[in-house]
Amino acid sequence: MQVDYLIVGQGICGTFLSYFLLQGNKSFIVIDKNEAITPSKVSAGIINPVTGRRMVKVWMVEEVIAFAKEAYGDIGNFLDIDTISQKNLIDFFPNPRQREVFLQRIEEGDPYLHSFPKQNQFNQFFNYHLGCGEIRHCYTVHLESLLPAWRQELKDQKQLLEENFELKNLEINSDDIAYKGIVAEKIIFCDGLSSFENPFFKQLPFAPNKGEIMILEIPGLPDQHIYKKGFVLAPLASRGHFWFGSNYHWNFEHAEPTKEFYQQAEVHLKAWLKIPFKILEHKASLRPATIERRPFVGLHPHQKNIGILNGMGTKGCSLAPFFAKQLTDHLIHKKEIIPGADVKRFSRILGKP
Ligand SMILES: Cc1cc2nc3c(=O)[nH]c(=O)nc-3n(C[C@H](O)[C@H](O)[C@H](O)COP(=O)(O)OP(=O)(O)OC[C@H]3O[C@@H](n4cnc5c(N)ncnc54)[C@H](O)[C@@H]3O)c2cc1C
Repeated sequence: MQVDYLIVGQGICGTFLSYFLLQGNKSFIVIDKNEAITPSKVSAGIINPVTGRRMVKVWMVEEVIAFAKEAYGDIGNFLDIDTISQKNLIDFFPNPRQREVFLQRIEEGDPYLHSFPKQNQFNQFFNYHLGCGEIRHCYTVHLESLLPAWRQELKDQKQLLEENFELKNLEINSDDIAYKGIVAEKIIFCDGLSSFENPFFKQLPFAPNKGEIMILEIPGLPDQHIYKKGFVLAPLASRGHFWFGSNYHWNFEHAEPTKEFYQQAEVHLKAWLKIPFKILEHKASLRPATIERRPFVGLHPHQKNIGILNGMGTKGCSLAPFFAKQLTDHLIHKKEIIPGADVKRFSRILGKP
């Protein structure tokens, strides 16, 4: 079989890359082993324009979020499903310092941070002695609907191989690549955590970051907002269900859920929530983060038939659509990729062929 591209991985990166290649009338096969736990499957799907304790704007926020909103809408229309909801975030100040930072940023005229006049609105649900503010232009992406729906579409179109991709079967030729009877012009790795071990890209400065989460049932908690007090509670598509998380660990012994997080989460939830909750699931995964907090996008500087879309870190839902489109335009129209994201900036460490 001959196709234009072979894509490894159908997380949020592989989903959008294959979607945009389809829009560009290119042929491809996606290989994904359908693991139960992946970053894209554990993610809350939150798009938040501000980040960190200092509440600074996310890198390229205006372009990236406007693009993401439209891209989720388009793929949702294509699949006839809801993929994105606007849910502004209610930030319950966890300590006086965070309250001060938030109010300071409002005073500086940050367009995303706002005071929340109805301070008592959530009194029956939460304990919050230091008040709250509102972060606007936040969204939740319904990855739990989008990923399986796109997978089914690929299956229906015979564009998906549900198996483990094994490098030992990859042949790289001067003008194409071959993999188990599939010949493609290029192979693009959207394989998330597997790239840490991928001989073509493992030299890149990845900095995996572990996060643990819970799926909760909280009957009666309104689902119009995302809530935050240190940890985040984000509404899921199924009624009464919420995503709770997460912690951020750069040093960890393993990628499994821990008893410590479970206990910490229970204590936190009991102190924060005034209404009953039930813990349904507890999961953990690693974020494919990078040392300089910028993604890896483009073709290998020394292997023209091999590409990558990875390194989305904590912000895959915001960044993946935008950079999947950048990569598609680069592949089809030879357009430049934003230099801060183009993997060719690592030409030296990726070595010579
Ligand atoms: C706890 C947690 C919470 C998060 N919350 C958010 C959030 O709220 N908002 C946000 O924007 N981001 C969030 N993220 C980050 C986000 O999940 C990631 O940035 C994003 O999912 C990365 O997507 P990806 O497609 O690059 O990788 P992945 O999701 O890892 O997808 C890679 C795919 O490739 C497949 N694969 C890998 N190797 C092979 C192989 N050899 N053969 C076949 N298939 C293979 C995998 O099974 C997987 O399906 C969170 C991450 C974690 C861990």
